[in-house]
Amino acid sequence: MNRAFYISVILPLKLEWEPCYSLQSGMDSSDVKAGDRVKVQFAGKVYSGVVSKVGVKPETDPSKIKPIICVEEGLEPVLEEEMELWRQVAGYYLCSIGEVYKAAYPIGKINLEEARAAALEKARKSREKLLENMRGKVAKIQDRLEKKLALAAKAKEGTKTKLRNTEDAERIRQELETAREVLKQAEALYSNRAAKTGASLEDLPWTKIKLSPAQDKAYKSVRDGFAAGRPVLLNGVTGSGKTEIYIKLAQEALKSGKNVLYMVPEIALSRQLEERLQTHFGDRLLTFHSGETAASKRNTAETIRSFKGSDNNYIVLGTRSSLFLPHHTLGLIIVDEEHDSSYKQDSPAPRYNGRDTALMLSVIQKCGIILGSATPSLEELYNCRYGKHHLVELQERYHGSQESDIEIIDTKAERRKRGMVGNFSRKLIDHIQSTIDNGGQVMILRSRRSWAPALQCEECGEIPKCPHCNVSLSFHKYGQEGSMTCHYCGHKTVFTGRCSKCGGALKSLGAGTQRIEEETAAIFPNARIARLDSDTAQSKTFETKTIKDFSKGEIDILIGTQMLSKGFDFSNLHLVAVISADTLLGLQDFRADEKALQLLEQFRGRSGRRGEKGLFVIQTSQPEHPIYQRIQKNEAVHFNDSLLLERETFNFPPYSRIIEIDIRDRYADRAERMAGKLADMLTKRFGMAFSGPYTPAVDKIADEHIRAMRISLKKDKKLVSGKKDIMEIVQKFEKANKYSGHIILNVDPS
Ligand code: ADP
Ligand code: ZN
Repeated sequence: MNRAFYISVILPLKLEWEPCYSLQSGMDSSDVKAGDRVKVQFAGKVYSGVVSKVGVKPETDPSKIKPIICVEEGLEPVLEEEMELWRQVAGYYLCSIGEVYKAAYPIGKINLEEARAAALEKARKSREKLLENMRGKVAKIQDRLEKKLALAAKAKEGTKTKLRNTEDAERIRQELETAREVLKQAEALYSNRAAKTGASLEDLPWTKIKLSPAQDKAYKSVRDGFAAGRPVLLNGVTGSGKTEIYIKLAQEALKSGKNVLYMVPEIALSRQLEERLQTHFGDRLLTFHSGETAASKRNTAETIRSFKGSDNNYIVLGTRSSLFLPHHTLGLIIVDEEHDSSYKQDSPAPRYNGRDTALMLSVIQKCGIILGSATPSLEELYNCRYGKHHLVELQERYHGSQESDIEIIDTKAERRKRGMVGNFSRKLIDHIQSTIDNGGQVMILRSRRSWAPALQCEECGEIPKCPHCNVSLSFHKYGQEGSMTCHYCGHKTVFTGRCSKCGGALKSLGAGTQRIEEETAAIFPNARIARLDSDTAQSKTFETKTIKDFSKGEIDILIGTQMLSKGFDFSNLHLVAVISADTLLGLQDFRADEKALQLLEQFRGRSGRRGEKGLFVIQTSQPEHPIYQRIQKNEAVHFNDSLLLERETFNFPPYSRIIEIDIRDRYADRAERMAGKLADMLTKRFGMAFSGPYTPAVDKIADEHIRAMRISLKKDKKLVSGKKDIMEIVQKFEKANKYSGHIILNVDPS
């Protein structure tokens, strides 16, 4: 009867419009509603789309409009709130809504019954794991106590060492008592309710968080910020108990019948937090990240979608993609480590930042949002300074406020004095040795993985490069059986040790994590050593095991990349060392100093977390760099002030928005030509705000030649229309030139 009933559909494609379809004959308007998933044909292919509007007026000749193939069975409808977020993300990040849809719904059909069964099994296993962890924790504390007692017994009567160790032992004894009590209650709970699946831990005493006075003050201020309807930035030093505050806020949101989203920048952090959150939230904790099976993801999504408010509400712990779950009834969003650049998706579109998208989601959901960091981003400091966000400071460590000591070692001077052994200064070697001798643990940071970041021929000076990218190949001695690998595209060749041009011997330029591991093993033959970088962390079990072993004290020295700076909490870690901080400085990027400062501060925060003073050693050949003075004098705040001033002077973010436009083409000359043409069009519209085209530092990746351009827009009323114009000019350019290369728009590149 309703022959002329049309709907618009979002397709998982880079399309600027939402195509129109009619219904199958025999269907009427009540059969389809906005959000339904429908199967349709588009340009000769079949897609699963989402109905965005019903009862639309077709813009083309109605006789050319095709009917849908069918409404998808077994795919749940998309919520209005989800589509609203997609629209905002597409608008902000200059991509199509279809690209956001594709990111939000990457998986097709999965049997829901099987997914549920798998989830129940997972919950059972995780309860077992929880008990096991608690037992492990008790054993670990016991172990620590015995070590302290032994040290105390060994020390001479009346000495400071004796006193200190005795005091420490007493503190650990109390910790042990509490942990034992907690374990006893958990065991009782699970044996009573073993048959039930929904065992909740919320009645247990240890989930009641007692905040310290400083934490309580911060917590109250957070609530004030929420009450005023403003996003909150919690700037708190590592170990100040930010996580405890998040947990308390989450408990309250759950109690009020709302759900919680807890975001972390990386999967490794999620795994570590999972256990901690599980003790508080039990089965209510859902996790969502790239490491999970499709079934488990689907189950999480459907649990959230079907939440009715009467059943157990939940807390989702996830990486940035968890923003696109079918959220509704959200009461709180937590964005942990908000400064972390892993929140930004670089490829494919949508090139969104998880933190900023979380802010959009909080507006849609009308819920509180707290962003936390020990080293806040300049963006957030700016937002607080200009009153958009509410700043809360927590500068006191929970287990005592001892900042680590800092020692900066000048590698140039040491080298002159013959004080270097390979990449290690003798001073650092001594620190490592005495830390291990005292039963402490060590972490060593090297920002580059591999054995050597590059090779060079001793005869002709040739540097082996990737045939597909304009970057040098890294030498991997271990794990990949002596290979030369491209860190951009993954290209790999066998290492022969000889130059392919002249046959001369290849020598290494610089040292990566593998080489540092080798040197460490040679210097400390009796130490237990492990390495963690994105090579070894490819395997989840390896990564989890390494972190577990380290936290159990079964590894003395852990070597790794930036990965190690993130949020890990190791109680026996006394010494943290950066082998060569030089690579962090002086990068051709206006964010280099900000990032270097954040990384060093994060790294420093790892050591001495239990009231004991730790040591942070930085080896550098530029000890005079201002960043070190700032860190040494605890002047991060002033450093941030001067960075902000610098950004303002040069009109860099956060005082402006940058939109990066890359042309990627298989042919170098066409890349050049097209970039020139597009640049002309953009210059006409944007004038001085436009810069480029220029050749980026890495100008060829995976056989595509890259030319870059940049537009920097003031944050004013004209920003939105400026961004729209960029999108329109690019589309016009693509059409006019029938351009088939890639044009990539990146808003707020990191
Ligand atoms: P942050 O997240 O700021 O790095 P955490 O929340 O991890 O800090 O706290 C550091 C350590 O102090 C953790 O071991 C945590 O269990 C402990 N802690 C912090 N606040 C409290 C509290 N109120 N009660 C008990 N333990 C706390
Ligand atoms: Zn390559």
